[in-house]
Amino acid sequence: MQDIILIRNLSFFGYHGVYEQETRQGQRFILNAKLFTDLDRAGNTDALEDTIHYGMVCEFLVDFLTRNTYKLLEKAVTESARATLLEFAGIRKMEISIEKPDAPIVLEFDSVGVMRTIGWHTVYIGLGSNMGDKKKYIESAVKKIKKHPYIKDVRVSELIETKPYGGVEQDDFLNGAAVFETLLSPMELLEFLQKLEQQAKRKREVHWGPRTLDLDILFYDDLVVSEQRLCIPHPDLENRRFVLEPLAQLSPRFRHPISQKTMLQLLNEVPE
Ligand code: AMP
Repeated sequence: MQDIILIRNLSFFGYHGVYEQETRQGQRFILNAKLFTDLDRAGNTDALEDTIHYGMVCEFLVDFLTRNTYKLLEKAVTESARATLLEFAGIRKMEISIEKPDAPIVLEFDSVGVMRTIGWHTVYIGLGSNMGDKKKYIESAVKKIKKHPYIKDVRVSELIETKPYGGVEQDDFLNGAAVFETLLSPMELLEFLQKLEQQAKRKREVHWGPRTLDLDILFYDDLVVSEQRLCIPHPDLENRRFVLEPLAQLSPRFRHPISQKTMLQLLNEVPE
């Protein structure tokens, strides 16, 4: 989405700051934003309802940033952007900056500020369980995922029974996948999913090895990261039928960001 609605030098009075003088007296802030959206339709219809009403976005932002007070501009830009993205569904991504022209610095300067880009990301996750009431563990996790304030448009594949992968002697698995939109960063999402895994584990303390719940990030947009704590796309995904089957059901034409093969292609190529 390359179309942008611009907000330039929106001025408001607020109480954000680390210093007492800032939170007591307040000061003027300058906000700039780029709202990334699709303006194709409005460009043709000339109708206000087909675009993002910039007046309403400006009012929303100023209201938000005067009702809430933050020590850091980092937090102020993050929270106000997230609130705006939740309020105006047509905005896919926004670049936002907030500046202090009168920051408490005894030097000559125009302003100091913080800028961030925050938006919706399309995420695919793998769902698995091979212990206890497998279906219940997965369904309960999906319910919690749907309830997360920064997650929307959740779609879940059918769940399939599969033999354990890797040759370890254990119960059959129930596997599936889900796709959703999220404002969470990859690491924030990983931490949220790990929290759900821990909550599931706590219920059955006596058991060993096999998992009550396994949640893996499979794709995060077309991002490629290879760190110890987080590897995206999930490694070895191309060899796992129980991952590719639900993925192909959800989005057959979605392409693996490295091989560029579609989920349907990968499923057709995976060995039995
Ligand atoms: P597992 O026991 O298979 O669920 O693996 C969990 C470990 O894998 C955790 O320490 C994670 O930090 C790490 N990990 C690496 N990449 C991912 C990913 N894409 N999704 C989930 N966990 C991951």
